[in-house]
Amino acid sequence: MAFLDALLLPACPGCSSLLLPGQPSLAGDFRPFCRACREEWPAASFTLGNQHALGLYEGALKKWVLRGKEGPSSGVLAPLADAMRARILKLELPRGVLVPVPASLERRRRGWHLAEALAGSLADRLGWPRADLLRRRLFRKKQALLGAQERRLNMRGAFKRGRRGPPGPAWLVDDVRTTGATLSEGSRVLSESGRRVRGSLLLAQAPLQAF
Ligand SMILES: [Zn+2]
Repeated sequence: MAFLDALLLPACPGCSSLLLPGQPSLAGDFRPFCRACREEWPAASFTLGNQHALGLYEGALKKWVLRGKEGPSSGVLAPLADAMRARILKLELPRGVLVPVPASLERRRRGWHLAEALAGSLADRLGWPRADLLRRRLFRKKQALLGAQERRLNMRGAFKRGRRGPPGPAWLVDDVRTTGATLSEGSRVLSESGRRVRGSLLLAQAPLQAF
């Protein structure tokens, strides 16, 4: 019976530990996470020029992003999107068309792409349009295996224009920014199609010293 009770308790999307009744009420960005995860939450968002991330890709945030990449069942997307919405409103970022960085073909075959899911969740929460203005052109080498210079070369020509979408400036949406090669290539293709790019909205920024 205790086992069945446990199955009905909500679990922390960050670490799967059960959220026990009687835990202090959770507020703000941290609502569905357990206390341990909330304490690991990055204290400040990370902004680099016009690129805005929830924090650095390390610690709890890295753990949650990795869970989010696995698929929709982790439940981690909703709280992360809530937190991003809060940061976007706090920074008073202007409205824009949310454009997910498209999945590689390999990932598309797996049927779940965190950047696309995130763009949809943000569109729902902010009431901004989401449009697939970019498409992958060719199969590319896996970016994660490459260094900074190789990433830039590998991404060149990786995208082409996708659907037309609603008018107005765009925000690129991605899960993790590493060197920025993917985002600058996406930005370039959008700009060449006459679309102004405001910047990018990201879950996490890889620590810069890693490159
Ligand atoms: Zn947790």
